Amino acid sequence: MIIYTCHGAALGVTGSCHEVECGPSRILVDCGLFQGTRDAAGANRRGFAFDARSIDAVLLTHAHLDHCGRLPQLVRDGFAGSIVATPATRDLARIVLLDAAQLQEEEARRARRHGMNDAAPAFTVDDAFRAIEALDRPAAYDTPLAIVPGVTATFLDAGHILGSSSILLELHDGASQRRMVFSGDLGHRGSGMLRAPRPAPPADVVVMETTYGDRPHRSFEATRDEFLGAVNQTLRAHGNVVIPTFALERAQDILHCLHEGIRGGRIPAGVTVVLDSPMAISATEIFRRHADGFSDAFRGALRQGDPFAMPHLHFTRGVEESMAVNAIQGGAVILAGSGMCTGGRVRHHLRHNLPRDRSSVVFVGYAAEGTPARQLVDGCRSLRIGRRDVPVRARIWTINGFSAHADAPELLAWLGDEPRPRVLLVHGEPARGMAAMRQTLLRRGTNAVCPSPGAPCRLA
Ligand code: ZN
Repeated sequence: MIIYTCHGAALGVTGSCHEVECGPSRILVDCGLFQGTRDAAGANRRGFAFDARSIDAVLLTHAHLDHCGRLPQLVRDGFAGSIVATPATRDLARIVLLDAAQLQEEEARRARRHGMNDAAPAFTVDDAFRAIEALDRPAAYDTPLAIVPGVTATFLDAGHILGSSSILLELHDGASQRRMVFSGDLGHRGSGMLRAPRPAPPADVVVMETTYGDRPHRSFEATRDEFLGAVNQTLRAHGNVVIPTFALERAQDILHCLHEGIRGGRIPAGVTVVLDSPMAISATEIFRRHADGFSDAFRGALRQGDPFAMPHLHFTRGVEESMAVNAIQGGAVILAGSGMCTGGRVRHHLRHNLPRDRSSVVFVGYAAEGTPARQLVDGCRSLRIGRRDVPVRARIWTINGFSAHADAPELLAWLGDEPRPRVLLVHGEPARGMAAMRQTLLRRGTNAVCPSPGAPCRLA
């Protein structure tokens, strides 16, 4: 028997976790953290709906936390197999997991200080280290890899972040065979740092993300112009620009954009740019080590020098350095995580800059429902940060075209024109991207279904 069960990013965006049972073998594709929504913390603390000890291997599509963030819990709960990922994903996951574990421990300590004595982190730094040790099987793109009896996997470039993959599974349970492809998160052509996603290979079953299944993105050029315009306008008014972004998501895109903006004389060369992240330097080092994961054009830029270099670029690692940024009243561009403002250093930059009418907050990524980012994007007049309501006087900009996710036309292009017997839609808002993509596919005569969390789906 071959059975597929979606445990996360089913009728939702975060917590990607797909179980595939093939004869006696059982694997997961991704094991991500639930994020953003009010019940996310509870969902992360609840145990898995399956026995972690029964999983033979995990295949990891990429290093974003909503795809890898529960690996530490999986290992703690008894998973003893290998985690397979591209070398770049392994290096990025290492810093992503350690950062998340530190954040979890900090939050639990803070909660205990406020009298919540039973507050415990969802996972600890020790758990994260054990998960990193389990990331011991590298996968090269386009090379079939025997994972466990009956399961062969081929990782294909998904063009979403460095090292990201779609995964083709060839499943054989002794009686029947199935080809199943997981899109992972698919990239957007954007700034051209990464290669375009490899199109979906022929398969009986396709599991596809639908984050932006309901809309096209604007052109990258229009996006960049709007972004540089927002930065310029704020700097002219002597305010600060706060850009909520994770060091590995949009940050390098944005730095590259600012670098080009300064070179082209579109923003003043004297601007102070702060990448307020303890992992920013490590991320740049990883970029250099895995230069082969980028497009030819960007590899050329990496060879010629630092494509992020700016006269007044500061990386802040320590907490004191980060706090010192609060003294800057204007004229700075501050990049800090988390992108959805649910935690991390961006919260203290928001606390200082939201009340200033000369400052601005520029959103360059996805803002999930229920997050502070979405509240700001939707025009809230005050935002709860910690135990204080902070008035919102700063200008809020939402610039969508930087997305690292494919838009609706790109999702359809990835899927291709050939008939697809069965398409399972995941990783989208049920009433938006997911529903719209389902309608589009049904109109084309494709059997498109949105699986419910935990409901087994028999493939053979
Ligand atoms: Zn992602």
